[in-house]
Amino acid sequence: MTFHVITLFPEMFDSYLKESILGRAIKDKKILIKFYNPLDFCEPNKRVDSRPYGGGPGMVLRPELFLKAFTAAARNFSRVLGSPGPHTPARPARKASGGLRNIKIINFSPSGKKFETNYAKSLVKKKYTDVVLISGRYEGIDARVQKILKAEEISIGDYVLTGGELPAMVLIDSISRQIPGVLGKYESLEEERVSSSEVYTRPEILKYKGKNYRVPKVLLSGNHKNIEDWKNKTKK
Ligand code: SAH
Repeated sequence: MTFHVITLFPEMFDSYLKESILGRAIKDKKILIKFYNPLDFCEPNKRVDSRPYGGGPGMVLRPELFLKAFTAAARNFSRVLGSPGPHTPARPARKASGGLRNIKIINFSPSGKKFETNYAKSLVKKKYTDVVLISGRYEGIDARVQKILKAEEISIGDYVLTGGELPAMVLIDSISRQIPGVLGKYESLEEERVSSSEVYTRPEILKYKGKNYRVPKVLLSGNHKNIEDWKNKTKK
């Protein structure tokens, strides 16, 4: 799966994506992440933002720059049949291998549809080959971008952030760990079994400020049925 991230701040992704499981997934080519900066399409001496029509606080990101960034992304996911252009973004195109290019366009907004694990799973199940993630800043992106691209509006929670970069990383992280082979053999095995939000490791008795904190007995019992039941009970 290729993630095409449209952002004014691609460097924000660097350290998060190079480490641990995602870093390995990129190295193993299980996922590919490409960046498109609307700033690169900005005319010299012009700004990426402009004052909102109708007044109000803050600045709005200019639509042309985001559409140009999208077109650059579209060139990358439709190399074989030529660019579908921003008007037919969801049209599937043939890959060189004969498979279908399947494209999802996501625009982040605190008032969008709430992102959940099931949504991440469905993107993998529906075999999207390219996922475009559009990160806004300031008061957001001119609403016509959303309309033209027919992007799906996604929120990562009921709070307002300063930008769509964290949401993009949240989606990349959550979707990637659903892709077969991204989690190691051991981790994915854990995933298939019941995994609990309450987990313990050594030592069996943890001493802290004069008190003993023990691992729940059931986990030491070796009784798999009881352990599964306990995990189900603690699952959130
Ligand atoms: N004026 C907007 C807020 C813009 S926040 C409003 O009232 O709705 C700036 C950008 O941050 C947004 O364009 C979006 O890309 C991102 N963002 C902020 N909070 C978010 C959230 N909870 N989920 C997803 N994206 C969010």
